[in-house]
Amino acid sequence: MKILVVGGAGYIGSHMVKCLLRTGHDVVIFDNLSKGYRDAIIGGVFVEGDLADGEQLDRLFKSHDVDVVMHFASFIEVAESVKEPARYYQNNFVNTQNLLDVMVEHGIGSFIFSSTAAVFGEPQYTPIDEAHPKMPINPYGKSKLMVEQLLADYDTAYGIKSVSLRYFNAAGADPDGELGERHNPETHLIPLVLQVASGRRDAISIFGNDYDTPDGTCVRDYIHVQDLCDAHLLAVNHLLKTRTSNNFNLGNGQGFSVQQVIDCVANVTGRKLTVRIEERREGDPAVLVADAKQARSMLGWNPSMPDLEIIIETAWRWEQSFF
Ligand code: UDP
Repeated sequence: MKILVVGGAGYIGSHMVKCLLRTGHDVVIFDNLSKGYRDAIIGGVFVEGDLADGEQLDRLFKSHDVDVVMHFASFIEVAESVKEPARYYQNNFVNTQNLLDVMVEHGIGSFIFSSTAAVFGEPQYTPIDEAHPKMPINPYGKSKLMVEQLLADYDTAYGIKSVSLRYFNAAGADPDGELGERHNPETHLIPLVLQVASGRRDAISIFGNDYDTPDGTCVRDYIHVQDLCDAHLLAVNHLLKTRTSNNFNLGNGQGFSVQQVIDCVANVTGRKLTVRIEERREGDPAVLVADAKQARSMLGWNPSMPDLEIIIETAWRWEQSFF
């Protein structure tokens, strides 16, 4: 199959490209390199461009006979989305609509969307299944939920079939050490703690230790990036076979606290880590854990690296090799 990976130079997109190439697909990558890196593109055909540019998308679909579009290109920082909602609605929603409109014109009817646990907002119960109410509490989560809603309407009206995959906490790196997580600035817990371990950063801040959790720090469900990629492959197969649109929550169903992550990094790296307790970060729910039974039963998804230690080991290899 020929698969267009939008955002294929970014963290999850670049791992997806590698996974698609390994499984024998033709890959076209579309990325404006605003967050991604040229050297993260390890194969396929690269087209540098922007989703805001409908004419360029039109040319892209004219010159490539694309079967499926996977869309990873979005802004992902919750705090930034609160300060700059215009950029988030523009990039995450308007530009996605633009992409879908050009797909409709070209009769491309299969779409895999990178959604997020942030569409749920403050959890009303955990683990969170697909039926959980969707009440996002920041523009990031709202912009993603708006796309999910748009996709339902585009299915009804134009027949575009889609799968929205709601990632919990994507983490880890390519086990071969070729690719990894690179955000600038980095705000995610695991890469930041690893930067402390490698000496690039003095200390790790814990944002709040007075939550209603066993050790007072926030609990998250970390899922290996490769397991996310596997879910995308299964989602494509399911979509092509059933021609029905779906949403799936993707996580291991096991929560780890910020303190447990820091302890695990100390174990894996053998380094002493300086920790500072700071104020809570705005918009952080105490616990976010996925109920991914639906992905397991309907897609046959079975994460192969659920162990936090292995997730961290792969990310540590990347941190050490790259910097
Ligand atoms: N966190 C932290 N210190 C940091 C970065 C993150 O304590 O320097 C916490 C954050 O408050 C959250 C958890 O780690 O409870 C995971 O945060 P991350 O930004 O990695 O992912 P998110 O859950 O926001 O998607």
